[in-house]
Amino acid sequence: MPEPTATLSTLVIEKLSGGITAIGINVPGHSQNVMNQDFMKELGQVLTFLQQNPPRGLLVESLRDDSFLAGADIGQIDTLWSLPPARVKELCDNGRSLLNMFAASPWPSVAVIDGVCVGGGLELALACDLRIATENPKTILGMPEVKLGLLPGWGGTVRLPRLIGTGPAIELIASGDAITGSQAKTLGLVDACVPVHSARESACALIEQTIANEDYCKRRAELQLPQVLHKPESDFLLATTGAVIVSRTKGNYPAPMIAFDTIMQSATKSMTEAAALESKAFSDLSQTSVAKQLVRVYRLGERNRRDCGLGESTQLTSNESVHVNEVQKPSVVGAGIMGAGITARHVRSGFITKLVDIDAGTLEQSIPAILEEAAWDRYHQKTNQERVNELTGRLMSSTQLSSIADTEIVIESVIERTDLKRKVLAEIEAIVSPSTIICTNTSTNPIATLADAFSDPTRFCGMHFFNPVRQMSLVEVICGPDTSDSTVASVVLHAKRLKKVPVVVQDSPGFLVNRVLTPYLHESVELLREGVDPSRIDKVSRRFGMPLGPLELYDMVGLDTAFYAGLVMANAIGDRIEASPVIPALVKAGWLGRKTGAGFYSYKSTGHDAKIESVNEKLGDLIDPYRLAEQQMTDEQICDRLFLPMLLEALLVLDEGIVRDGCDVDLAVIHALGFPAFRGGVLAWGDSLGAAEVVHRLDQFSYLGPRMTPPARLLAHAESGRPFALVAERENYQAKTI
Ligand code: NAD
Repeated sequence: MPEPTATLSTLVIEKLSGGITAIGINVPGHSQNVMNQDFMKELGQVLTFLQQNPPRGLLVESLRDDSFLAGADIGQIDTLWSLPPARVKELCDNGRSLLNMFAASPWPSVAVIDGVCVGGGLELALACDLRIATENPKTILGMPEVKLGLLPGWGGTVRLPRLIGTGPAIELIASGDAITGSQAKTLGLVDACVPVHSARESACALIEQTIANEDYCKRRAELQLPQVLHKPESDFLLATTGAVIVSRTKGNYPAPMIAFDTIMQSATKSMTEAAALESKAFSDLSQTSVAKQLVRVYRLGERNRRDCGLGESTQLTSNESVHVNEVQKPSVVGAGIMGAGITARHVRSGFITKLVDIDAGTLEQSIPAILEEAAWDRYHQKTNQERVNELTGRLMSSTQLSSIADTEIVIESVIERTDLKRKVLAEIEAIVSPSTIICTNTSTNPIATLADAFSDPTRFCGMHFFNPVRQMSLVEVICGPDTSDSTVASVVLHAKRLKKVPVVVQDSPGFLVNRVLTPYLHESVELLREGVDPSRIDKVSRRFGMPLGPLELYDMVGLDTAFYAGLVMANAIGDRIEASPVIPALVKAGWLGRKTGAGFYSYKSTGHDAKIESVNEKLGDLIDPYRLAEQQMTDEQICDRLFLPMLLEALLVLDEGIVRDGCDVDLAVIHALGFPAFRGGVLAWGDSLGAAEVVHRLDQFSYLGPRMTPPARLLAHAESGRPFALVAERENYQAKTI
């Protein structure tokens, strides 16, 4: 058989000295090496060729920087939903057979893992006899399939436990988290972790060593054997790892628990029996709506990563010559809760950052906390003190605005007073260079009102972070009347460099997120006035998948903040959603939520981390003057009362062109409100019910008036049967890419 190299598009064969052959992976047309149909076909061809021309040893490496091999092409995963389960099983079996053929080759093989090695990429590496990872910080290894509602389907649940042990394999597969090369070495997932420049040489040396010892044959035989899993060990895993999975997924995400069960069952089975269990579990999961929604959410994220925010319907005067400024010198003005969080995020992302506050005491207090947050080690769940020392030089603080004269982007985050913000913004504009971008983190001020303070408002927009900044990944980039495309695209890029998810929105009360949140929060208080128990309301919401119930959220945000935001929203949408009299009554009573130790609930202490003790026992008396006719409701009705108004508001937001499409709405509610990803966002949830069903459910609440009245867009969808939520890659979407 002739060498197939000339006809290959994804693989390159290279003969090295000593009879060793290298297969280099380079899959064109994707940002990462992926296992698409071409790659799988060519891998089969190369194996057939090598069987006829056997090397002494084989090395598998990537020809691209920072990408060894990611898993299956997401486009192919997206076709799974339309296939019958038997066909899905067959696809698993085919892929696994190819990797089995690879693993059974008569020569020893070693994977040189430099860059991203996840999913099917790691399954290929596991089919090699040996693995070397590099010390490159971009080298990560993992099996993230559960994040898409699936599990590894090409032998990962069979080979990984046999290599590193059942418990560690379950943790890696059921969490979907990735680990570094050195962590992989500690786990025994790789045989060595070496500098990038010596990886190939080390791989060749390993091959020579294993040929000399002939130990790869012994290793292969051992890895074929079922594992010994004694009952106390399996009971222990069930009580620890199994319990963690249940508490993390709350029964809403089936994949991690099915991965757990599959690995436990297959541990004591032969490779063939274990493979059959894997294929069955994969095909079962591929039929769930959760997997379908999670893959869509993944695609929404991918679209967001590629997109500069200037889509066709943003109502901006987009043109091809937009200048995107990659800013290097950021400053934050205001070192309060938000300013400190925004600064920490900049420092953590590698920016040398200047922080200004009028109050020296606030600066003194906030700087250690900022550095601790910036140096937080997620893996070990603690602050890395060495890192704090390294980062200290990246943070400069001052009480003088003049200190930020040379900055390239300023994020203003002073207290929420319109007159003060206008004054501070005008002072900033007078100090900085004409090309500096200026943003405000206001939650309630119209951008137009603040833009008025500028002589050049084209360089100004909103950059609205959510609290706490370290956890909430959404950033709303809000266009003022004169904001230039270049400012928008530059701020979107800056948010991405902070590892945030920016969504461009038009200037409108509550912008996007607080607008759709308002009807949901309001409804929870109306339910209280109708006699529903507060903890029942929150429980229904959490069972739906929200991280906190609406009344718990009120207490976390603070009732004073909620009152003020409610006034702004009442001005805008008060014809449908009137401001509730209960919130000002709570404020008047001094019950501001967690920070004062009492709100809808009583707390064991005061402050952000305070834990709930019980429902505030005096809440009933406070609500009494505002009681409405008592209603008997099922949990399903309570759930509809909470979430249908959020859906209706999202449809109105689309009507008003506040965002360009439903994808941005769904992405925003997931990243800012913790709306359950397994439901795909509020519009995708509406689609899962169907517009006609939504109209039907609203009908039972028609006595509540305009806030439960189906808007025209809903009726039109009910008539046409068209979905609300768009797929991420709708054909006519023309976002410019960064
Ligand atoms: P905060 O009261 O905690 O902090 C405001 C800081 O601004 C204080 O440290 C104060 O000393 C400083 N300041 C006041 N005048 C100043 C001036 N002239 N120059 C420099 N510094 C000055 O407020 P916060 O909660 O951090 O909110 C800041 C902004 O973020 C507001 O616009 C708010 O609406 C917005 N926001 C808040 C949240 C939230 O949950 N707290 C969420 C999103 C957005």
